[in-house]
Amino acid sequence: MTVPKAPLWHPFTQHATEPVPLPVARTEGAFLVTEDGRRILDAISSWWVITHGHRHPAIAAAIRAATERLDQVIFAGFTHEPAERLAEALVRLAPPGLARVFLSDSGSTSVEVALKMALGYFRNIGAPRRRIAVMEHGYHGDTIGAMSVGARGIFTAAYEPLLFSVDPIPFPEEGREQATLDALEAVCREGDTAALVVEPLVLGAGGMRTYRPAVLAELRRICTCHGVLLVADEVMTGWGRTGTLFACEAAGITPDILCTSKGLTGGFLPLAATLCREEIFAAHLSSDRGRTFFHSSSFTANPIACAAALANIAVWEQEPVAERVTHLARMQEERIARFRGDRRFTGVRRTGTIAALDLAVPDAGYLAEAGPRLRAFFLARNILLRPLGNVIYVLPPYCVTGADLDRIYDAVAEAPEVLAVRSGAVAA
Ligand SMILES: *Cc1c(COP(=O)(O)O)cnc(C)c1O
Repeated sequence: MTVPKAPLWHPFTQHATEPVPLPVARTEGAFLVTEDGRRILDAISSWWVITHGHRHPAIAAAIRAATERLDQVIFAGFTHEPAERLAEALVRLAPPGLARVFLSDSGSTSVEVALKMALGYFRNIGAPRRRIAVMEHGYHGDTIGAMSVGARGIFTAAYEPLLFSVDPIPFPEEGREQATLDALEAVCREGDTAALVVEPLVLGAGGMRTYRPAVLAELRRICTCHGVLLVADEVMTGWGRTGTLFACEAAGITPDILCTSKGLTGGFLPLAATLCREEIFAAHLSSDRGRTFFHSSSFTANPIACAAALANIAVWEQEPVAERVTHLARMQEERIARFRGDRRFTGVRRTGTIAALDLAVPDAGYLAEAGPRLRAFFLARNILLRPLGNVIYVLPPYCVTGADLDRIYDAVAEAPEVLAVRSGAVAA
């Protein structure tokens, strides 16, 4: 039996076939330390949330201090300093023009909030629109609305009856970007599109697919032309991952709605924010109660999480984080470069601190097996990597060292041989 001893059900885990989950006793910088003392290099930032490194001392201290004064406080009819200061800081740091902050508790929820803001806006201005345009291969979370605007496939098949229909535009492959823009034009011309939801520059779960900032700028232009709201899901890309604080900065654009979560607290605690332009907020102001923004979750604006986010922002402002990001981007480029021209790999790419490459796989059978076998192979070398099918990506915390990266890429270079041996001779 591989099912866990504790009565737990783990996320995205096939308990019938996957190894028993490893017990982590401690985290430290770029490492997870297991109960039996293994130090595992966290090369995917614990699912993309840890930015500076695990347990940054300033954020830990801020959390401890916050618990001396507050725990959860109802956020309707009441407010508190951590939330107010956080909102001010986010408006100051986000692309100019985003003026209001709605706080929630996960990336998925921040997307649900964005969708409701968009539909509510058009209804409240008296010009209701019903459709949402999305980018092919997108991922926006696992709640029903977030799944609806994301790519459909094995992960969503069972829930298809509950998903609403959306208008997908093709992913802007290099050299075929015009087709994406033309598709958006065509969708927008129909006149019923409330919003376009996209991950700016890097589509994470959809295979670390990257596209050029100029394309994002064009998407912005087309949305503006048709009065369609642009929703930038920066849940993964925010907080330096793509080289700038938010990915939208590279394109010089401001979306109408921006979602952020994962790195918002440095990855320490669950918290999310949906930022929007003042017009969207203003459209909900009315003596008619029916125009209220009807959304909440029990832990909206949790003061401890807000304090963690404020401490994260202080780290960005007081430590040379931007320099670390630039340095990491350069170190990643130096190491991924060796795979360009290596015929065992294709699509070698990097955006900011994120590097990815596709393992050339001979057939679909290999493809289906590749993910779990690669994961086991890396773990046997004390490296946490979770390839997306045949896509190997390295998305480390910013404290990772050049030597740590060398260890990762040396293992990546060995990976094709492992898959070439078909009958599972992978050490667990
Ligand atoms: C992870 C992710 C989400 C979902 O965030 P959760 O906190 O897991 O709900 C949404 N959008 C993007 C782009 C993500 O990478």
